[in-house]
Amino acid sequence: MSRSRRDWRASSASSGSTATRPTRPRGTGWSSLRVVDVDGANGEPVDYSHVETGFGRGAVARRLRVLLANISRTRGDPSRSAAEVQQILAWAERHGEVALQSRCHDVLGSVFEMVGDPALALEHAVLVNDLIDEGEVPLMRAAARLCLADALGSAGSFDESRRRYNEALRLVIDDTDTNIRYMILNNLAYTEYQADNHEAALETAEQLLALSAANSRPIGMYARDTIARVYLTAGRLDEAERMLLPAIETANDDPNPDAVSAALVTLAEVYRIQGRLDEAQRVIDQCATLAAGHGLVRWLTEVAREQAESYAANLDYRRAFEAYRSYHAQSVALSASENEARGRILEAMFQTAESRRESERYRELAERDPLTSLHNRRFVDEHLSIAAIRSGEGGPGFAIAMIDIDHFKRINDALSHAVGDEVLRKLGEILKRAANRVKGGIAARLGGEEFLLILPGADAAEARERFEEARCDIADYDWTPITAGLPVTASIGVALAPEDGVQTSDLLRAADVRLYVAKRDGRNQVVHTATIQASAAR
Ligand code: GH3
Ligand code: MG
Ligand code: MG
Repeated sequence: MSRSRRDWRASSASSGSTATRPTRPRGTGWSSLRVVDVDGANGEPVDYSHVETGFGRGAVARRLRVLLANISRTRGDPSRSAAEVQQILAWAERHGEVALQSRCHDVLGSVFEMVGDPALALEHAVLVNDLIDEGEVPLMRAAARLCLADALGSAGSFDESRRRYNEALRLVIDDTDTNIRYMILNNLAYTEYQADNHEAALETAEQLLALSAANSRPIGMYARDTIARVYLTAGRLDEAERMLLPAIETANDDPNPDAVSAALVTLAEVYRIQGRLDEAQRVIDQCATLAAGHGLVRWLTEVAREQAESYAANLDYRRAFEAYRSYHAQSVALSASENEARGRILEAMFQTAESRRESERYRELAERDPLTSLHNRRFVDEHLSIAAIRSGEGGPGFAIAMIDIDHFKRINDALSHAVGDEVLRKLGEILKRAANRVKGGIAARLGGEEFLLILPGADAAEARERFEEARCDIADYDWTPITAGLPVTASIGVALAPEDGVQTSDLLRAADVRLYVAKRDGRNQVVHTATIQASAAR
């Protein structure tokens, strides 16, 4: 009844069982999408679509994939879900999708908890919380606290765990959605029970019952088991029995055999303590059949343990000893298979990390211009479209400058194509320095002798200053060693997001028009605001 019991309970969905997560329906409780919260609503779907979340474009589809991966985790395929989620996590990190990163860590935490690795589970749970913005809606923050509380409890840090449950409760105390409160109370009651805090466990169990009564919400089977265990330790055996009787009645129809098995094992214990050994035996047999039918290895192990206790209570020590031996053999096999599952997951995660590094290297190559090693057009298209959309949605604005070398043909013609290349390379270096003066600034070569600077967060005034500086950097550079006295200058057309548009094409067009005006008006200059109407058509 101490720590070891929580351990098997928290991870009872492993070892090839088809069970869903017991007691702690972590990783399914919150989302902007429609979510099936298995425990929280007795298998009925819970609609969280009213919850505003921070998921940007492209992230919603991946959010759904995380959700599906989490479901396949609960169906007993943790290594595949871990690999999938890790890949999505890498994407989310690249695109700054913090809310999605948080969800990924939540599921990875559940994966490790499932295979009995509380240390790694805790690591991910901490990240879930680090990544949740304190400005995020209370429900989301509460869900993150709940996840951390669960992981702390599984790791045996009961005080820390309790503190997080209470924080989570405070966050949703006024929320009309009682699902999360129900989950928090259930897991808190179980944690108090684990920590041998009988009074607190009882008090929390009663709150859970009151919440369920006030909302006419049926009590789920895991919650029944939690409450019954609390009653059992308080010596309130009749109440424990009443709480668990539905498990016998619905055993074969209940959609959650894992929860029913948990309840049946507890009921057998209640009968044994009451001395009702025949009834205890019937429940043990029923549970053994159910667990075997669903491949619930954990519960088969627990049934063997309860069987041993029951024989012993009957003073049948020979059979008690045999049952105990069988229990022992099963639990050894179980922890071996858990170790194996852990190994498989780490291996799968390692392989995805490897292939990610490979594909990132190719991707990097595909997004660079070989002559100047600046970013290329392809990178610009992807990067700009994301940044532009964000700026239209109230995100940070930015400035771009389209830069075209003046009379570049002359350099090629008068000197050589190789010298032309050398000029392009050097110009690349100059622009890279110019970009680096602004945090997150980007220099790219669009093609030929045409370049682009992107300055995040720059407004009209800063754009004026920075791009004039860039123009001077080019014109004032001592090009003599390369061009033998031929000057190198550039014309620059500027555009601002979101003022000039929130689509790449609009922004590039605006900058291009102004570049044309700069050329027409004498070159070696920066044009910021000209429009095609104000100037002659091209
Ligand atoms: P303007 O001031 O109007 O921009 O005149 P320009 O001569 O720079 O413009 P134009 O577009 O007529 O010529 C661009 C030249 O750039 C033509 C092309 O041969 C040269 N070019 C394009 N790509 C490369 C390259 O990779 N290396 C070299 N050396 N030259 C290139
Ligand atoms: Mg050109
Ligand atoms: Mg040119």
